[in-house]
Amino acid sequence: MLLEVANLTVAYDKAMIINDLSMAVDQGELVSLVGPNGAGKTTLLRAITGLVAWEKMTLRGTAGGDVTLKGKITFDGRSIEKAPAHEIVRLGLVHCPERRRPFRELSVRENLLAGAYLHPDKAQVQADLEMVYQLFPVLAKRGRQVSGTMSGGEQQMLAVGRALMSRPKLLCIDEPSTGLAPLMRQEVFNKIQQIRQMGITILLVEQEVATVFKMATRNYVLSSGKIIAQGKGEDLLQDEVIRKTYLGL
Ligand code: ATP
Repeated sequence: MLLEVANLTVAYDKAMIINDLSMAVDQGELVSLVGPNGAGKTTLLRAITGLVAWEKMTLRGTAGGDVTLKGKITFDGRSIEKAPAHEIVRLGLVHCPERRRPFRELSVRENLLAGAYLHPDKAQVQADLEMVYQLFPVLAKRGRQVSGTMSGGEQQMLAVGRALMSRPKLLCIDEPSTGLAPLMRQEVFNKIQQIRQMGITILLVEQEVATVFKMATRNYVLSSGKIIAQGKGEDLLQDEVIRKTYLGL
């Protein structure tokens, strides 16, 4: 397995957000995480990519609340539950967070180069930039444009492009279709499939369950910080309780 999460628990003060959760993603898969609002999907991605550990560290010494983080996370054969977030990125585990946040005042190109900050080899960075421009021709066209003036869909493409610049083996993408018009959503999903065909493993959090179930090799259904079902989309859709109670279909 490329990623293995074993008995993960995350709590903020006394609120248990992830409750003794185990899951895994194999090399080459596109795995989805679905479930109702507040189920803990984003928190799970943040725990995997080192952001909860960072919160725990920084909140401790301040007036902030208590953060509990327990369990084991293994990526590419290494224990990462105590690794700092930048080290996790360097290993190839990269997070593309919800609500696309490029640096608004930087150009598209500058934003993409910011994604490559861990890679000093200039020729390699240039090759990666070409790869991103090929995948997202709109970004090539808008290379010099200030990012804050682009449409929501274009900013989402830029967020994914920037994540690709850090050379992920596993790309965790959080709700990429949120707030986009239907055509643009489809475009974003098509790009995610292309990224997988490039050999990058994907862990995808999405609300648009019907579309994601067609794309994913496997799916995990989360509710109240636990995985309550897992499997192929077609099998999960056969279960009426899962469909109605947890997926709102
Ligand atoms: P959504 O689909 O609405 O984004 P989600 O499944 O991604 O939901 P999370 O964003 O992980 O769910 O949130 C799960 C719960 O954890 C929520 O009740 C949220 O308020 C709480 N939570 C998340 N982060 C923190 C934090 N830093 N401090 C306190 N509570 C938090």
